[in-house]
Amino acid sequence: MCQLLYCCWDDGLVFKLVLLILMLCPLTINSSFQYLTFVQQWPRGYCTVNPSRCQRIPLPTVFTIHGLWPGNFTKILQICTTTSYTQLQNFQDWNNRNLRWPDLAKPLPTMQNFQEPRFQSFWKHEWKKHGTCSENMYPEATYFSRTIQLSNIFPGSNPTVSSVNSTIYRAISNHVPDLMCVTPPHQTPALVEIGICFTATMTTIIDCPSQFLRTGSCGIGTINFPA
Ligand code: 5GP
Repeated sequence: MCQLLYCCWDDGLVFKLVLLILMLCPLTINSSFQYLTFVQQWPRGYCTVNPSRCQRIPLPTVFTIHGLWPGNFTKILQICTTTSYTQLQNFQDWNNRNLRWPDLAKPLPTMQNFQEPRFQSFWKHEWKKHGTCSENMYPEATYFSRTIQLSNIFPGSNPTVSSVNSTIYRAISNHVPDLMCVTPPHQTPALVEIGICFTATMTTIIDCPSQFLRTGSCGIGTINFPA
């Protein structure tokens, strides 16, 4: 068997292969993303800093998404591939994305003109500048949907208990939070408190002890997060 392998072993080919790997490795290590920054913005803040560019009326009164920025510990990542942005064609899709990720520099379009490129230029910019840098893991549709999932708990939304639980769980490095809801008569449970548990020195987040969890007060379905 070994003899067979040896007879077919082409030194030249191996050399070229090693050379190729050595050439590509630093490139892939330096340009691959190692973490993601989920950036949200306070609309009133954006408009105070950029009064001339602030066009959105009414201005949202919740934090909205600016972007999801893939990063690398040694290098700034920007415009990593040439993959172009795909315009949303459906008004409902546009509206769903706009709800959490509005372009504050544009007025609200109508159903007739929402397809104009200017009404998606912010998303296009974010995709090209940042999204393409995590494209190997999150192709465009996934990049947008996963980013929106990260912000799925906001006042006025009707999240499910499990989505609130898992979002907080991920946000605090996979530790169990303690949710507390109050259920008014004949209504859905309303989210009132989110508890995060620490060690006594307050240096480390831990799972909230299961024996005292109040998450059961939220039931198992949709809850209300009043605006
Ligand atoms: P980046 O280009 O890295 O995504 O972020 C910086 C730029 O985003 C700044 O020029 C800032 O003005 C812009 N920006 C932040 N929020 C918005 C927004 O809602 N709409 C648009 N068009 N630009 C925004």
